[in-house]
Amino acid sequence: MKKILIAGNWKMNLNVSEASLLTKRLQDRIAIHRDIEVVLIPSMLDLQPISLQIDRRKFKLAAQNAYYKDAGAYTGEVSFTMLRDLVSYCLIGHSERRHIFNETLEEVREKIAASYRNGITPILCVGETKTERINKETDQVLEDQMQSALANITASEIESLVVAYEPVWAIGTGDLATPDQAVAAIKTIRNSISSLYGNEASKKVRVLYGGSVNPDVATGFLKADGIDGLLVGGASLNYAQFTDIVDAAFEVHHDLEKR
Ligand code: PEP
Repeated sequence: MKKILIAGNWKMNLNVSEASLLTKRLQDRIAIHRDIEVVLIPSMLDLQPISLQIDRRKFKLAAQNAYYKDAGAYTGEVSFTMLRDLVSYCLIGHSERRHIFNETLEEVREKIAASYRNGITPILCVGETKTERINKETDQVLEDQMQSALANITASEIESLVVAYEPVWAIGTGDLATPDQAVAAIKTIRNSISSLYGNEASKKVRVLYGGSVNPDVATGFLKADGIDGLLVGGASLNYAQFTDIVDAAFEVHHDLEKR
């Protein structure tokens, strides 16, 4: 059975002491769950101190971004090579990077390759804008983002990939996708993987939903077909809400196991 993955993206929030306090509060409340991976995604600055603070049986770490060159004269950047002993995962192609920082499909592809090259599992973020959804371009956009990002991935690498379906219009807006919309989009994502690597591989890839998730809606998404976890932004900065989302995952997993 695939492990449910619950990831909290803190974005550009929390200085070192605030991040440490949030980590402590989460660590006090979240138990060790064998079948659930809880991934914290602090800022680059907070990663190092938090790596010393966390109980690694409870939490894994991810970076929010990294540069695809391994080393060199790239002022202001941090490479996957520099992160390799620090994080298990890295977000790649988050919509804020694509839309605010104009990250291209080619850069996303380079970052996916650099991530695997350095032993870090990518969490590839894909999703359509409101206009694209209205124009019925969602499937095409997802296919383009997937096919382009996966171009250099080997058949053995693909199985560990994590994809986050994050409709751009749902991120930070409170304007949630319905579980049905997420399930349909995730089907497109898996079909895209399947066309390149086969059906078995596409089933092994974990696909998350992200976009304004809060404790009230978490269970609905986690129970939906083909959704293996959640990428949480705003609600992950609130220890009570994030703990409730992790607890919801635990309950859904527990129910599935009983069946
Ligand atoms: C995100 O940052 O990936 C995200 C989904 O944010 P939010 O939950 O705030 O919409």
